Amino acid sequence: MGSGRGLLLWALGLLCLSAALLAPAPSRAAGGVVGTPLRVCILPAEPGMDPATLLRQPERFDCATPQAEFGSGDYWVLSSDIGERSRARRPLTVRIASVWQRGLDVHVLYADGEVATETADASGISRHIELGAIVEHELPLRKAEVVRVLWHVKDAANLRGILIGPRLATRDQSTQSNLVMGAVYAAFGGLCIALVVYNLALWGALRHRFQLAYCAMVGGLLIYAVSSSGALAWLWPEIANTTRLRVNHLMLALSGAAALVFARTFFEARVFEGWMGRLTTAMVVALVTAGFGFFLFAPYAIHLADRLYALIFLAVPAVLAPMLWRAWRQRSNYLWLFAVAWALPISTAVARALHNLGLIPWNFWLDNSTILSMAAEALISSLAIAYRIRILSRERDEAITAETMARRLAETDPLTGLLNRRAFLEHSIGRTGRQTLLIADIDHFKRVNDTLGHDGGDEVLRVFARVLRASVPASALVARLGGEEFAIITHSDEPVPAEALLARLRAARMPFDLSVTASVGVCSGPLATEIEWKTLYRGADAALFDAKAAGRDRARAARPETPAAAA
Ligand code: GH3
Ligand code: MG
Ligand code: MG
Repeated sequence: MGSGRGLLLWALGLLCLSAALLAPAPSRAAGGVVGTPLRVCILPAEPGMDPATLLRQPERFDCATPQAEFGSGDYWVLSSDIGERSRARRPLTVRIASVWQRGLDVHVLYADGEVATETADASGISRHIELGAIVEHELPLRKAEVVRVLWHVKDAANLRGILIGPRLATRDQSTQSNLVMGAVYAAFGGLCIALVVYNLALWGALRHRFQLAYCAMVGGLLIYAVSSSGALAWLWPEIANTTRLRVNHLMLALSGAAALVFARTFFEARVFEGWMGRLTTAMVVALVTAGFGFFLFAPYAIHLADRLYALIFLAVPAVLAPMLWRAWRQRSNYLWLFAVAWALPISTAVARALHNLGLIPWNFWLDNSTILSMAAEALISSLAIAYRIRILSRERDEAITAETMARRLAETDPLTGLLNRRAFLEHSIGRTGRQTLLIADIDHFKRVNDTLGHDGGDEVLRVFARVLRASVPASALVARLGGEEFAIITHSDEPVPAEALLARLRAARMPFDLSVTASVGVCSGPLATEIEWKTLYRGADAALFDAKAAGRDRARAARPETPAAAA
């Protein structure tokens, strides 16, 4: 696929994300956002303030000033009027987004004048976490209607609001939401586990570094999902909610760093030559620092930690953009897959960072689209890995073919296509069982050359080679030892009959119908070692000498008992 098409798909991904973020509220209600929104008003807390009194004095609360302008500290947050009963058949809950705060009390005023109170420190908040990182309080059942709810937020960091996304819901809606979110997170978790196991197993066989980086990334995302979904608070109810938020930040940053390492090891090395490699390394270090920085220092300087974290995440696209540009310029094979895989997560990351800097409003899907886009990313990246491995193995196959061809060329006599002397020795020595060596030398070849010229002599050599090869069993080795001297090795139990061979040579059609004959020396024996080869060769050579001396165009065998004696 061309990279132009990849960029198109990337743009499409961005479009999908924008559509998801801008979709009207009802179509999103199927996810974690349930119930009806509550308007809330703010009152900075001062010593001596009494919740029972404040619940009856809505006029003291500020409903106009944006929450973020209040700064951090202790606040009272009063809901708009509710006017519904929390009944056994239909218990009511109030739900808010989980943010950085160290304590949260909830006071509920009923129409009969009763006030119900529930207090929680940071760990206590964790026990109210529902899937989707929603802090939920069930309103105690009473016959009287609920008038309004007052939250006492202690030590609110107020990074982007004191109390975000308040909603009134029924317990059924809450259960429904947990079910849907549970299914989403379970699917994501299952996918992550399967992908990690699969890629780790594959790494065991193939040992590509990008496979490990991929596993680190997906494993990190899995922990991030457990923590950011709120499931961590279910698994570990004593954990302070602020600690859970710190784990979120840490895991997201570490996954981001692993993702960059993945890109670094996944693309061809040429994409990261020079400054691009250094920039990527710097970004990886920055992300790891941001993660641990937030984890360690958020309790002491939450605003600074949060701002630095958001800024470093905003810088990620500044590294990815030139990386993708480079990959495109360098005609990387993997750009289009990479671009498709990362379109959604990158867009989500940008949206989150923009939100963290206060440039776009809080949105439930902003948090949860991360999971969905990461799932898409993990899946497509896995396909990218499969594709990459396919290309690597194709390259390996090509290299093996090229090597095989090079070796065959190095072993072959260029004139006749037979084995050359070196290859013949290499393949002959070590053959098991008794072997028969046959040496054939063309008679008076000098005269052939004189008659036909050197080229004509070459043609005679080629015809001679063809006849030899056509006369031997498949397991035989045929070589041109040099000049007009040829050799055949066969297992002794399937020897080449020398007389028949000579007859075929005599009958072979030579250039200008020249009649060409040869003399043959034969010797049999073991051929396990080089010493045995020498013995065998001496025997065959001596037999050949005998054949020449006896008048040529004939075969002689060395005496089998003492082949060396003939020398
Ligand atoms: P004998 O019957 O005793 O074997 O005589 P001969 O002439 O065949 O033997 P000799 O070893 O004296 O000569 C071999 C000749 O083969 C000498 C050389 O010019 C020729 N020759 C060697 N290699 C090649 C080659 O690759 N092509 C051609 N055309 N001739 C070659
Ligand atoms: Mg000769
Ligand atoms: Mg010769």
